[in-house]
Amino acid sequence: MARTRPPQTDRPDKENTPMSDPVSLLQQMIRFRGVNPPGNEGACVRHVAGLMESIGADVKLLGCDPERPNLVARVRGAGLAPPLLLHAHADVVPTDGQQWTHPPFEGNIIDGHVWGRGAIDMLGSLSMMVSALTRLHAGGAAPAGDVVLAVSPDEEAGSRAGAGYLVREHPELFDGIAHAVGEDGGAVLSCLPRRVHPIVVAEKRACWMRLTVRGRGGHASRQGWSGTSVGKLARLLARLEKGRLPTHVTPALDRMLDALAAAADEPLAGRLRALRDVDGKAEVPYDLLPEADAVYLDSVLRNTVNATIIRTPEKINMLPSEFSVDFDGRILPGGWTVDDFRTELRELIGPEGDLELLLEGDAMPPPVFGGFFDTIASVMREADPDGLALPMITPASTDARLFAGLGIACYGWVPMLLPAGSRYQDAMHAADEQVPVDAVRFGADRFHDLLLRYR
Ligand SMILES: [Zn+2]
Repeated sequence: MARTRPPQTDRPDKENTPMSDPVSLLQQMIRFRGVNPPGNEGACVRHVAGLMESIGADVKLLGCDPERPNLVARVRGAGLAPPLLLHAHADVVPTDGQQWTHPPFEGNIIDGHVWGRGAIDMLGSLSMMVSALTRLHAGGAAPAGDVVLAVSPDEEAGSRAGAGYLVREHPELFDGIAHAVGEDGGAVLSCLPRRVHPIVVAEKRACWMRLTVRGRGGHASRQGWSGTSVGKLARLLARLEKGRLPTHVTPALDRMLDALAAAADEPLAGRLRALRDVDGKAEVPYDLLPEADAVYLDSVLRNTVNATIIRTPEKINMLPSEFSVDFDGRILPGGWTVDDFRTELRELIGPEGDLELLLEGDAMPPPVFGGFFDTIASVMREADPDGLALPMITPASTDARLFAGLGIACYGWVPMLLPAGSRYQDAMHAADEQVPVDAVRFGADRFHDLLLRYR
């Protein structure tokens, strides 16, 4: 049930400068090939720095590697509101081994779509932000507070040289900033007959672990031993495959389910409402939802765990006496700790083996609603009265986790007017990444609205 509206064309002429056209900006950014690894973001970051300089912003290029700078550009505001941070990453993932219908680094427009690596993740969004800032300048309007644009490398490989470097080495550049808008990472839900506009208010964090299990080894010509490590592995994987960690309704999820249920028809509405009441054992209605929606809900209702790497001594004629399994665990936003996660994981997989923590992601503070969140929601409501602005949790993590550590309330938002049920996000990190030209223009207009409106 796709409902589309014509793109907004209410720009005064003086704001239509070539610099403020988000589509040509995006095409240019794709052509820079900022692939990470190895990290070729420099050309794109310097290009944006030049544009920001030309509109009078205070521009800084900073980094631990001169070839991979971060840009921090400050556009002066009227001093009536605290500074606002817009942040984006300039790196894109490789295209090796992927079959693309059209070349991934030419930024061509084909059938109304800009094609190329980064069109969605997240050069499209960066081009919207840059376009909104240059248009604001061309129109002679100053935002209520300073706007700080941070463009970073290295998000796709852990952010050490990117946003991690900025918050570690230059936190003073972000003093006084109350709110930030960055990468969205939300799900494009298609279970409603309306467009859903995600506003990400919370992120899960990584908790990567390794389990080492030992068992009886020996010559592989014999059969029937009990207590082999392979038998233990098989039972463990079966428990993981069938089981789930308990469900927990966090404040962000509660608001999301409430809004989703209010917009859904029965019987889905009732089943979504029921998820809010059952703590520990909530059942996601797979029978009523598109699979991708159900998987998303399943993943934000609980801490999750997937076995991703299994290691044994690789010897074909030997029963291994030891194996290890690496778990990609993700912890819900809120007060959950690694110990809580470990306890839940043990209940699922049993007491076998030694569990070792490999990596713990940064925790974000609780989501903040009202005020700035309402401003973003109102921008979307006015531009698309048929749509539903929805607070969301992302099961993955973005650079927001790093800026949140400076006390900034972070929101993930990429305003696009896509047909209801559109699955453009599925092309993130995959072949044939593309974005509708109209969606990019719409997004740039909404960032412009936000810059004029926030207080
Ligand atoms: Zn991204």
